[in-house]
Amino acid sequence: MNNRCALVSKVIPFSCVDGPGSRLALFLQGCNLRCKTCHNPWTIGRCNDCAACVPHCPHEALNVQAGRVWWDEAHCQQCDTCLQMCPQQATPMAQRYSVEEMVAQIRKVAPFISGITVSGGEATTQLPFLVALFSRLKADPQLLHLTCLVDSNGLLSETGWQKLLPVFDGAMVDLKA
Ligand code: SF4
Ligand code: SF4
Repeated sequence: MNNRCALVSKVIPFSCVDGPGSRLALFLQGCNLRCKTCHNPWTIGRCNDCAACVPHCPHEALNVQAGRVWWDEAHCQQCDTCLQMCPQQATPMAQRYSVEEMVAQIRKVAPFISGITVSGGEATTQLPFLVALFSRLKADPQLLHLTCLVDSNGLLSETGWQKLLPVFDGAMVDLKA
């Protein structure tokens, strides 16, 4: 069992715009660029528990406990007000997922998808999780058919790409110009 964790901004079980076919898209939190034109600007930073967003949540889905900001998923209406308020370009809704927790989510939708795409943020800033997740999927006879793609800004070093090569099926690289 692999318990390596990633900070995840969002999981979309079925996406038809994140690579070929229907795919589970996993958006990791955190990026090593700060593009003005970012498509997902709230995935760039990491929450520092400043609590600036908490009083602005119209549905009381955010609270502070022991100096940490907590997100109450049951009360959240996905209005995105907190994303607009955050000075860090982060989200209080990011969650930690272990490889096994992610595999359990993927298993539920596996019959209906052709693969998974890990995007972000910049997916490769959490490279050890990527390698562990893809290795786990490739070793599971029931999930082996899923293609594993990375959506990346291409900044990863050659050494990093060499680590991914044995376990992934390709990268979609957003060239910045
Ligand atoms: S999400 Fe942003 S505004 Fe909210 S607590 Fe975290 S850093 Fe502060
Ligand atoms: S998206 Fe953010 S502001 Fe809106 S209900 Fe959920 S936690 Fe509150």
